Amino acid sequence: MPPFSPASEDGGAFCCAEPSASFSLDTMHAIQVTTTGGPEVLTYAEVDSPTPTKEQLLVDVSVAGVNYIDTYYREGIYNASVPFIIGLEGTGRVVHDPQGEIAPGTMVAWDHAFGSYAEQVCVPRDRVVAVPDEIPSAVAGSMLLQGMTAHYLTHGVYQLGEGASCLITAGAGGVGLILTQMAKSLGATVYSVVSTDEKEELAYGAGADCVFRYSSGLAEQVRRHNGGRGVDVVYDGVGKATFNESLEVVRPRGTVALFGAASGPVPPMDPQLLNKHGSIFLTRPSLGAWTSQEGEFQMRAQAVVQAVIDGDLDFRISAEYPLAEAAQAHRDLQERKTTGSIVLRVRED
Ligand code: NDP
Repeated sequence: MPPFSPASEDGGAFCCAEPSASFSLDTMHAIQVTTTGGPEVLTYAEVDSPTPTKEQLLVDVSVAGVNYIDTYYREGIYNASVPFIIGLEGTGRVVHDPQGEIAPGTMVAWDHAFGSYAEQVCVPRDRVVAVPDEIPSAVAGSMLLQGMTAHYLTHGVYQLGEGASCLITAGAGGVGLILTQMAKSLGATVYSVVSTDEKEELAYGAGADCVFRYSSGLAEQVRRHNGGRGVDVVYDGVGKATFNESLEVVRPRGTVALFGAASGPVPPMDPQLLNKHGSIFLTRPSLGAWTSQEGEFQMRAQAVVQAVIDGDLDFRISAEYPLAEAAQAHRDLQERKTTGSIVLRVRED
């Protein structure tokens, strides 16, 4: 196992190795999309194994994280040319580094390696972190995309702190539970919105101060709890169904971070609405943009890894599916049956 140094500026967590001569499988199993559509288009197929460029590492995938964004690619809301292998994040062991810097067998986690629902994937070398032994593979395979999203929302889009308040939609989802824990650790008051009793309990368990149900009177209910002021920031990953309430519930000059569209995309709007609600700020942020600066991916990723090691972030893995059952995982996610994070198991530990 390589040394692990979460505080190092370059994420210097790897040791040197001779490149291995024979590394790639001829073929592998993967979840392929040949035409976009519903969960049924996710096909467990035998395909050629990938070959890494110099800027990539070839990795044997242990666990692939399942994220809502995967459903946007599957449906064709986000463009990818077919056929493609779906999935963006995961954890597994390095098989081959063409530059010979990272030893075969090193356990890594990554985000934004397209094709992660597979037995092998090529991962951009600037999107990996080393995974220490104490982090279970199911957590490692799902911690980066959701964890870094929570990090940039709470530290970048709107810096939370003591006395600040936020509203989090889908508060018991993958991002929602992590966002709640991070917001609380920064000292903020957290209002959360969920759809069921079970989710309400989970949101409270993550530290939410007050948990609500979706309704057209949501903004009014939240305002009753904070002296009529409105919240400093709304983190809205639900989109179409909640957007109007998000505008209503934010305080004058507050921020609405519309970071997702689980209920569908928000239709075009009149910017004058931002004036009407008191000069509010609206942003539609992405993890790509918020990890694009020099060192930013490592800074956010290491913050997440360290918080997991320290026990400050508890990733709840509510379901683990075999790779071949990716379609069921997508169905459960989109039918709102899941809580916390869900993963695909590709290899046993
Ligand atoms: P979740 O685990 O949060 O699953 C989505 C949740 O959304 C559901 O569990 C459900 O919770 C809620 N929801 C509300 N309305 C609907 C609906 N009509 N259909 C389906 N779900 C609904 O998923 P993730 O944590 O993976 O992602 C959450 C959001 O964050 C997504 O919109 C995703 O795209 C976004 N995201 C954005 C990123 C960015 O950088 N911009 C990065 C990562 C994620 P409930 O039943 O409680 O309402």
